[in-house]
Parts: sequence; structure tokens; C-alpha cells
Amino acid sequence: MKRVYLDHAATSPMHPAVIDSMLPVMKEGFGNPSSIHQFGRKTRHYVDEARNIAAKAICAKENEIIFTSGGTEADNLAIIGVARANKNKGTHIITTSIEHHAVLHTCEQLEKEGFKVTYLPVDEHGLVKMEDVSDALTDETILVTIMFGNNEVGTVQPMKEIGELLKDHQAYFHTDAVQAFGLYSIDVNELGIDFLSMSGHKINGPKGVGFLYAKNGTSFAPLSYGGEQERKRRAGTENVAGIVGLKTAIELSVEQGAQKAVQYLEFKQLMKEVWEREEVRFEINGTVEHSLPHVMNVYFPGTNVESLLVNLDLAGVAVSSGSACTAGSIDPSHVLVAMFGKDSDRIASSIRFSFGLGNTKEEIIHAAEQTAKVVKRLTRKK
Ligand code: PMP
Repeated sequence: MKRVYLDHAATSPMHPAVIDSMLPVMKEGFGNPSSIHQFGRKTRHYVDEARNIAAKAICAKENEIIFTSGGTEADNLAIIGVARANKNKGTHIITTSIEHHAVLHTCEQLEKEGFKVTYLPVDEHGLVKMEDVSDALTDETILVTIMFGNNEVGTVQPMKEIGELLKDHQAYFHTDAVQAFGLYSIDVNELGIDFLSMSGHKINGPKGVGFLYAKNGTSFAPLSYGGEQERKRRAGTENVAGIVGLKTAIELSVEQGAQKAVQYLEFKQLMKEVWEREEVRFEINGTVEHSLPHVMNVYFPGTNVESLLVNLDLAGVAVSSGSACTAGSIDPSHVLVAMFGKDSDRIASSIRFSFGLGNTKEEIIHAAEQTAKVVKRLTRKK
């Protein structure tokens, strides 16, 4: 059976060039980057090179990049790190109700430790209102953490305006750019971003590696103690092969990101055309103008998520509900709840299509046709 993978926002396959760049490191580059000898120097060179590429990709400096085990660790390091190091300046944090669990659960943990967190609402497009951000700011606010692009519905927040607003405020600006990285050209200085998280496996790199950008001069505490790796901000021997794979994935996304974004917008259009032709009832959650190119969250009235996902899987189409991954179960979407309220039909009847490496027009049309069949079957009057 023809299988189509449309769950790239959950994770993506490694690009062949990523694998090729990692193999020699796994075979021969085993030295510890902290060792003085030739073996160590060789691997240190790999890590330094990757740091240079990562920094350039977001217009940062090399010493502002901290390699982590991925997006979750980067989010935790920024949020907990800032909270711990700045509690003498204030104990208030601002975030949104549609963040990834790596941010939401981290903030909830900090609430248990005595911090106050404001969870900003979003409108029906998933957008925060600038007015709400500025109203929430107080002299006690030490951090504003708002995601760049949402993983479930794709909403892209007004980064530049938020950065601008915080320019003269003590609060640091952290953004989870795990989904946006690679599809947008990001200049952290222009956007006024102090901390930025990204993850390798969302951009055709390896799993278990990513980085946190931390602007020079910001104060934050490490989460792990031990060796002096990553300038004492993240102890532990680096995942060298992973970091090399990450470097290649970043290079590829810098080269190809803009072109991919155009292709994914065409894919969205193609799917909509098939459903219109097939007279399937559907509505896109969120907005096209303020949405990540690779994410399309769709409401199919009269269906339910479980049946859609299982039937599509049987038809060879891999999609997801989009809500943060809880092994083996479908979590109710906190993002759609925040956008439409907990009683909306959309929460139980929406699924996410997300595009990526290797997807072709033919695959997209095939997947849309299969979806039309499944939706018609599920909504047929008995
Ligand atoms: N933030 C967002 C927006 C994500 O989509 C993900 C991945 N689901 C993460 C953070 C976590 O990244 P990782 O899997 O690398 O820990």
C-alpha cells in the first residue's frame, strides 16, 4: 500500500546528507571534545564548526549557542534558568495558553515553587493580543515566553512587536522556535529575542539534539552541574555525532527553507481543492496569513479524531491530532480549547496535516482523496 507521511511537525526523517555527515563521526570521531590530545581536538573542531553554523543561522554569536538534548531541554533551561537566576528582580512570568507542554508544564512547576505565571488567552486564530501582553507586564515580570509558531495549528505570533515591547523592560524574551526554525529567516537581534529554543528532529536532523540561544549578558542558572562544557551552562559531554547531524540539517534548512515554505503553501491549496471538489465539509483552524507553512489543522464537522486517525492510518495516511505527544493516547487539544472554548465541536473533530521532506504533489492529492473518502464514510447518515 502507498503510505504517505504527513506528520512532520511531530518528527521528521533524517535527510540523507545528515546521515552521511554523522557516519564518520560515529566511526572515528569518538574523542571527548574536552580532551587536550588529537582525538579530543578533532571532535572539538566538529562541535565548534556546528556552533558557528547554528549561530550564523539566527544572526547570533558563537558563544551564545548552547547545545541541548532538544527543544524540551532548551525550553526548560531558558525558563527555569531565568527564573532561578532572577528571582531577586521579580517572580512573575508571562506565557500563552497555547504553548507546547515543554513550556506549560515547566511554568506549572515554577508556580509550585512560588513563581506567578500569567497564561495569556488567544483569539480564534490562535493569536495573542499585543494589548494583553503589555497589560500583563509588571515591575515583577522577569520573563515573557511566547512561541514563534504553534505546533498544533501553526499560528505564528507577532515576534517583532513583542520584542519591541520588551526592549525597555527588564523581562527577557524567550521564544520556542522549534516549529518555525528553518522555514523563516530569524534574526534574533532584529526581533529582540533573548532566548530561543530549537530542535534537530523537526528539521530533518537527528533526534535528541538541539540548541538554546542565550544572548550575551543575560543571566540564567544552569540545570545540570558537572563538567565545564558549553561554558558551564550545560554540563556533560556533548552528543558530537548528533551535533554534526544538526549542523548539516541547519545548513540544509538555511539553503532550502524559503523554497520549501512556498511548496508547502501549494500543498495546502491542493488539499483544499480536492476536498472542495469532493464536496467534503471542512474548515481550516487558524489563519493562512499567520500560519506556519508546513502545518494545516483541519476541522471535519461530524467526525471524531480517533476514527479519523485510525481510518487514515488504515488508508496509509499518517497524520495526527497535533496535540502534544502523550505516548499511546490522544490528548485533548489545549490549543483548540484556548481558541474555541472547551465546548466547541472542533476539539474532537480536528486533525493536523504537516508537510516535509520527500512529500510530493501526487502524495498530497492521494492523501486528500483518502481523507475525503474517510470523512464521507464517517459522516454518512445511517
Ligand atoms: N516545542 C515545540 C513547539 C514542539 O513542537 C516540540 C516537539 N513536539 C518541542 C518543543 C519539544 O522538542 P523535543 O522533541 O526536541 O524535545
